Amino acid sequence: MTTAVRCYIGLGSNLDNPLQHVEQAFSELAELVNCRLVKASPIYRSAPVGPQDQPDFVNAVAEIETTLEAHALLDQLQGLEQKHQRVRERHWGPRTLDLDLLLYGNSQINTERLCVPHAFMHERSFVLYPLADIAPDLIMPNDVTLSSLLVACPMGSLTKI
Ligand code: AMP
Repeated sequence: MTTAVRCYIGLGSNLDNPLQHVEQAFSELAELVNCRLVKASPIYRSAPVGPQDQPDFVNAVAEIETTLEAHALLDQLQGLEQKHQRVRERHWGPRTLDLDLLLYGNSQINTERLCVPHAFMHERSFVLYPLADIAPDLIMPNDVTLSSLLVACPMGSLTKI
């Protein structure tokens, strides 16, 4: 029997009713093959990183357990992203749903397709604060505690919805 791995997924959206996309994504994560949704974080609003001439983001983090291998899980997450992108019919615009594999158990993965822990998670308040809501005692694969990352990462404009 394959052991289930505890994973954390970052959810983000800033288009076409972002709150609805994130809420729907939680339901879809719960339905994913060989996955179980364990916890859904509170939902936050954050100012965009980079270009400011775009709407605020809605962000959250999900904890799941899965027997999928990491790249197979990424395939599933990208499938969900594509499903949401179909909402925009005319041309390829900004994405309605972004799903990042933040942590896959205690693994450190570096392949062409996948970098885990997610490369920027340690400096993104919209990842760290919702993650802390559902996993306050979390320790990263390099033994850094989530609480020490939070100390170094102010909340800024991040607000709970
Ligand atoms: P982005 O749209 O900016 O989230 O980037 C998507 C690309 O990042 C895809 O081509 C993925 O293969 C790659 N990627 C690398 N590491 C990760 C990760 N931990 N989670 C999601 N996508 C990842």
